[in-house]
Amino acid sequence: MHSDCTPDADDLLEVMKKLAEERKWHLKYAKFNWRVHQSLLAHCLSVSSLSSSLLDCLGELNYVQSTEKLRLQVALTGFLHDAGKESESFQGAVEDFLASKGAEPLDFGHQQDGDLRPVIESLKKDVEDRLPLVRDLRGIWEEVIWSISQMGRRENAGAVSHSFERAPSNDALICKELVHLADVMMSKLKVEDVVSVSLDGQIVSKLQLTYSKVSVVRGVLTQFLHAALESQLTDAGFRPVQWFPNGTVYIGRAGAQVPHIDSAKLVESVVKKMQDVLDKSSPFQMAKAAYGDLRAQVIAAPEFLFANNESIREFWKNISGQRFAKPSSKKPDELKEAERKVYQQISGQLDGKDESTKLTYLARFLSDFNLLIVLYAARKQLVENAENVGVGSRAIEEEATKRIQETFAQVLRIPSTATWPEVALQNRAEKCLPVAKTLWLSPYYENPADWKRKFLEALEKATVGLADLWRQHIPDRCTSVARLLMLDVAYPLDPKAVMEAVGNLNTVIVEGKTGHGTPTCQRCGGVAVHEAQAELFGKSEIYHDDLVAGSRRGGGNKIQVCELCEFEEKLHAVFMTRGQEPFSTFYIFPHLALSRNQQLDWQKTVDKIKLGPGWLPPLLRVHQWAELVMEGNITSLSLSLDRPGSFFSEKELARAIQEVGEEEGLEGDLSSMIDPPLDAKDGKAVASYLSRGRCALKERFGRQVYKILIRLEPFYLSPNFVLLLTNGTVADRDEPESSVAIKWTFFRCILARLFSATVLGGDSIREEGATLGYTTVPSNIVLKPLTKKLNSAGGWIPIPNLERALKKLSALILAARELSNADAGYGKSTLLHLLDEEPGRILVRMTNRNRAYPKRFISYLDAWNDRE
Ligand SMILES: [Zn+2]
Repeated sequence: MHSDCTPDADDLLEVMKKLAEERKWHLKYAKFNWRVHQSLLAHCLSVSSLSSSLLDCLGELNYVQSTEKLRLQVALTGFLHDAGKESESFQGAVEDFLASKGAEPLDFGHQQDGDLRPVIESLKKDVEDRLPLVRDLRGIWEEVIWSISQMGRRENAGAVSHSFERAPSNDALICKELVHLADVMMSKLKVEDVVSVSLDGQIVSKLQLTYSKVSVVRGVLTQFLHAALESQLTDAGFRPVQWFPNGTVYIGRAGAQVPHIDSAKLVESVVKKMQDVLDKSSPFQMAKAAYGDLRAQVIAAPEFLFANNESIREFWKNISGQRFAKPSSKKPDELKEAERKVYQQISGQLDGKDESTKLTYLARFLSDFNLLIVLYAARKQLVENAENVGVGSRAIEEEATKRIQETFAQVLRIPSTATWPEVALQNRAEKCLPVAKTLWLSPYYENPADWKRKFLEALEKATVGLADLWRQHIPDRCTSVARLLMLDVAYPLDPKAVMEAVGNLNTVIVEGKTGHGTPTCQRCGGVAVHEAQAELFGKSEIYHDDLVAGSRRGGGNKIQVCELCEFEEKLHAVFMTRGQEPFSTFYIFPHLALSRNQQLDWQKTVDKIKLGPGWLPPLLRVHQWAELVMEGNITSLSLSLDRPGSFFSEKELARAIQEVGEEEGLEGDLSSMIDPPLDAKDGKAVASYLSRGRCALKERFGRQVYKILIRLEPFYLSPNFVLLLTNGTVADRDEPESSVAIKWTFFRCILARLFSATVLGGDSIREEGATLGYTTVPSNIVLKPLTKKLNSAGGWIPIPNLERALKKLSALILAARELSNADAGYGKSTLLHLLDEEPGRILVRMTNRNRAYPKRFISYLDAWNDRE
């Protein structure tokens, strides 16, 4: 994102972050009101960073001669300006105030010399070690103290008379002014409030502030939009300095023309970003995302299936590997009702053959028929989309059918398929017969292996024929999505573009197919034009707000969504469809807003999660994280482990390596995946070499293998927020949902600790809702005891309680594991039983099962029950 960060600035950031964590600033309050709580760590780091950004900008505009000393001094003053708030008296006053037991503590008034000294003393040594330059900068610390105490006095009317003290230097004056502005900006709740702060200082009056804002945070699409807006403002000479989840603040020269957003350019740049992301994903991923479910919406994303011929090939490779596509022989009494009817039809045509031959014919036909259902579903998507955009769908339908018929006749050397019905899952048995009879006429049918190859070839070629029609007639989906996305821009607006977009939308509303007024998107409140299979929206671990009370997502439930929300979910599916695991979405939001330095810090954390095999346990392995926490490695969580370890078994590695090998078409010889290229015929062989340290995976393959193993994908395409998708689960088989919810809470706490940020589950995103801590606690009534044990306030894990919550949840999760291992008889809901059971009774139960239970079990119970 930004590379103009000097190594010194990077070093300084690390030193400051380390000090803040050692002094537990991530567990202390800086700002607090009814809507937002912000940690002292987040506040100090962001004010420091924003002050530096302001200085950089003034330097570039030649308003300030920016020396190395001034740069350091600004960053340090910003970082230390609220250090006095770490005092117990201030923190206690905040907690009393939040519990309605005391008056609101003054924001300043505790920034006296004496409050700062101890913090400065401990920072000084580290800074001087890392940045020897500082040792020669005489007086810099005194100047920092002067600037901070002046800032305090400014707010404190009683102390006005003291504010005539002369500044020790011009630098100190500049620091005072910049840090004050940064502090005010970083305390605003909304992006539009930031630009209304007054810029009446000597130097800052040379600047102006502006912003961009979107009306709804959707996920990946919103990141594209933020990035596109940012590049337009940057081109116009403004510099982004502060990022909210729904908007960005920029600074520029006072009086400079704030640009109107060029909508055509914006659409173009959003389309380009979307295509970049899609191009980077393999045809294999596109193909997987294209497929839905044979029994529901067969083709979930035709735009991905028809994207290119490579994804069509991958699609059929994938489909033909599904169980429904493989003949499975059954005995007559094992046939289901529908199968029996087809059997009657077919066997009537096979006089003189014995029963087992007839059953083989049936099995082969049923699997072929399933594949035809998929092909015809693709055709249906083509026709429906043509209808939606108002091109001659009748003609397209005829042409599509003709292409399928011709391809089948030519590839399989069978007579015309014109007698075939519309192939679909609900076809009655009699209608299947003409299809079977035509297929049997192929000279390839005799040999099942030949047949399979030829049949797949026909399916693939027919689909390519459909794709040609799609590309001719259906407008590019990325472009239409990007145009709609323009409506999300709340500021700055180009009035002409808005009118145009609203016009488009009205057409959609008027042409709405329901006739029951305009349906609303159950996600964002926009105009719903899609009736989506609820499965597409992830099988979340919790009940979903969008459906009638108590009904689970999945199982044929439908929800109304708008085009944007639908496409957003499809994008997720491109990255997250491996196996049948459910997927979940998480958002990482800054406490209020993010600054450039924290953004770099987040980027590092994202890279560590995504690429750093061994530096952090995979996030979904909550037991491993719980062990780390209990071992006391909690303080180093944000700094990663001292020694990388392997968190995967050889068997898991083997499976993932094999999968990547197959995707890459290397079946049978995986030697090209490793260095040195030892003989390796499969994943097992490679994994065994790896465990003995005989070779290493080449970097590219290493990434792919790791991606499969970690089962999550962080998106950080614009600085405003991180979107994290998981396609694995923390649940054990058949574990009750409320029990799993406890583990997800722990999972979110880990993320909150890693990013020093607020973490929200995808379902709880509500625009500009209150964020009163690190993450939410489930409101499920069964989990009341959990809420009590974690001291959660108003449904949140408050800032001071994060590490305590991490520790307690770790203890709980590990104690439950010990009990399950000992088979202590609580069954699948061990975790729930532990919530409010007397520790004594649990222990008795454990002893009954296993006299030699491990000592650590007691320490888990103690930690959970606060008896340390
Ligand atoms: Zn929507």
